[in-house]
Amino acid sequence: STSLLWFRRDLRLSDLPSLLAAADAADRVLACFVLDPWLVKTAGDRRLKFLYDSLRGLDEKLDGRLLVVRGKPENQIPKIAKAIDANSVHISADHAPYGVARDARVEEALSGIKGGDIELHSTGSSFAVTPGRVTKNDGEPYKVFTPYFRAWREHGWHSPARSGAKSADWIDPKDVVGTGSSDVHAVDIPDVDVELSIPAGEDAAQKRWKQFRQGAGDYSQHSVEDYDDARDRPDLDASSRMSAYLKFGNIHPRTMLADLTELEKDSDHKDGATAYLRELCFRDFYASVLREWPHSAWHNWNRSFDAIEVDEDKAAHEAFDAWKAGKTGFPIVDAGMRQLSGSGFMHNRVRMIVASFLVKDLHVPWQWGARWFLDQLIDGDLASNQHGWQWTAGCGTDASPYFRVFNPTTQGLKFDPSGDYVRRWVPELADVEGKAVHELKDGRPSDYPEPMVDHKAEREEALRRYGQVSGK
Ligand code: FAD
Repeated sequence: STSLLWFRRDLRLSDLPSLLAAADAADRVLACFVLDPWLVKTAGDRRLKFLYDSLRGLDEKLDGRLLVVRGKPENQIPKIAKAIDANSVHISADHAPYGVARDARVEEALSGIKGGDIELHSTGSSFAVTPGRVTKNDGEPYKVFTPYFRAWREHGWHSPARSGAKSADWIDPKDVVGTGSSDVHAVDIPDVDVELSIPAGEDAAQKRWKQFRQGAGDYSQHSVEDYDDARDRPDLDASSRMSAYLKFGNIHPRTMLADLTELEKDSDHKDGATAYLRELCFRDFYASVLREWPHSAWHNWNRSFDAIEVDEDKAAHEAFDAWKAGKTGFPIVDAGMRQLSGSGFMHNRVRMIVASFLVKDLHVPWQWGARWFLDQLIDGDLASNQHGWQWTAGCGTDASPYFRVFNPTTQGLKFDPSGDYVRRWVPELADVEGKAVHELKDGRPSDYPEPMVDHKAEREEALRRYGQVSGK
């Protein structure tokens, strides 16, 4: 008997419950990935490169036995299932709106072949706790993070699943593709000519996680131990850079949580481990929010903000272009935007600063910024990104209050006190020493722009606009 294991955002072999389910269900398993043109179209070059490199890593671990096809999953999956005469198709659950609709289409298409005998089995998800599981006592979803966090910890999570390459007897796609009546067409894993600042794949994820636990590494010497103190400092590069690995499922958060709960028992690591665990919970929380309120993918979670006045005219487009290019004349904003376009990553604190600047200083719709982020970020993820933006814009669940407007200069002074972050990303300012780089009181180099807006005046304008809709 045979089963099909369909990989999506779970590109690893360890701690993969759907692999164990596929192996349990049949004697032999075929591993496949479908390059869905819709998903390829919505990802920027670096994210695609990360995806393709992750697939290459997976294929190597499977000794070249990963079948990659291109097309709509609802066409491809039934075709492959038929070609191997599968009894079942196995996946990890996806809760984002596109994934939910796609999986329903695939399930429907499967019911139309082999007398409707092929079932789509979903086992596990990319989250510590499957979205929708942690609810209030009355079954209602949480809207506020802190009580969710408490309930999430109480709920707990499974131990990592013990899976690996040896868990299944793998079918070689060459025995399936192009044989007999099969019209399954394998494609080579594509490549994109772009550099990645972090290597992709399961081995790289494990290595980075180990380094971050121990405080030694290729990119940074910081670790879980000083995470709670240093994580907000973009100049120190003290965060874990695990986000892209989590996005593509190169590692499961449960694997990390098992280590973190151990580290919490150690007094030197306790605070850092708890702080890190809380961030992983944010990732679960936003996935739950998106599952519960799918409109929040592109619309204000809080619909009373729909009435807010935003700028969308030609001047707004020009301002948006200056923001994207990192030419606003506000050093910390420009450093962030250039880190994004130059590396496909941006530090969390700076994500908040540049987002606040776009929405509250330039009065541009948050959706424009969110779309740009999704295009550029390697870790670009609908749930975390859209809700990170809406937190900043004040229209999300449990959002920052609308009247909190980040001052980019004081944020820079506080969180990049050495000025190193700005100098690293804005070469025009490389000769300005220390934290003076944020204020530029002694003048600006001729090739660095003047501030594009008067922050004080735009803050007042933002408060005026928000004042009109708040309290409705
Ligand atoms: P660490 O500080 O080491 O955090 C560890 C892990 O916890 C991260 O890898 C991530 O999985 C999770 N995490 C941390 N902070 C958050 C958060 N606020 N929300 C959800 N999960 C979190 N994160 C994404 O993964 N994809 C996105 O597209 C994304 N867009 C964002 C947009 C905005 C406007 C904001 C304010 C935040 C966004 N974030 C996003 C959250 C956060 O900025 C990144 O997860 C973090 O910077 C990744 O770096 P790291 O792995 O070094 O983080």
